[in-house]
Amino acid sequence: MATGESAVPRQDSNLRHRPETANTAPDRHASRPPTRTVHTYPLIGYFASIQEGVIYPVVATFTLLTAGYDPLAPRNVGRDGRDQPWHVASTVALLRDGDAIVVVDPGMVADRKLILDPLTAAGVTPGQATDVVFSHHHPDHTVNAALFPNARCHDFWAIYYNDIWTVRPADGFQISSSIRLIETPGHSPQDITTIAETDEGTIALTHMWWHTDGPAEDPFASDPDALRINRRKILDLQPALIVPGHGVPFAPSENTPV
Ligand SMILES: [Zn+2]
Repeated sequence: MATGESAVPRQDSNLRHRPETANTAPDRHASRPPTRTVHTYPLIGYFASIQEGVIYPVVATFTLLTAGYDPLAPRNVGRDGRDQPWHVASTVALLRDGDAIVVVDPGMVADRKLILDPLTAAGVTPGQATDVVFSHHHPDHTVNAALFPNARCHDFWAIYYNDIWTVRPADGFQISSSIRLIETPGHSPQDITTIAETDEGTIALTHMWWHTDGPAEDPFASDPDALRINRRKILDLQPALIVPGHGVPFAPSENTPV
């Protein structure tokens, strides 16, 4: 849980949090001013830390590790998944919030270096990851979870840590003060969306969309009606950014399929 660690003051423009690829991302934590561990306090819907009389809101930061692609991507034209296997990769992301270091959807990639090299560039070792989130239980979003040996793994109904299986509903579960899970079934019965509150607004990491164009009709959806309801549920949160299951992050607009 992320309590006690100091956060970045909003007024420091050098530390604004923008979506970024790790290849170009500075190590924001290395840029932080020296701080002491302090207590956190609820503050207008956020948590805040108080250091030497200054209130710092605790917010998450987001780093894109790698952007995925799906069977409908141009590179798969003419491929059928059988005689001509599809290329499929998950969008993998890093969230940091105080002590919490969260990897979302460590799934299929062409080479594990596509996850590990950006992680290193972001100043994080795999052993430092505290949490892994599975958006759902399709292997293209889970197969590289073991890269993070010390992380709790979260899905829709439990937390898994070594040999400890802790049952809990995901909906509303706070991984840290600024990172929570909500249940959003539709693509599969077990979808969850990770919601992070950042300096740039709310970020939703979700498989409700594969990429910025949807697809409008998810051909693999287990429940298309639930998918539409949960796409709307996410948009109602007015996210500044959506991190889809198989594409680059996008800002939702009126063209975003529901
Ligand atoms: Zn997928």
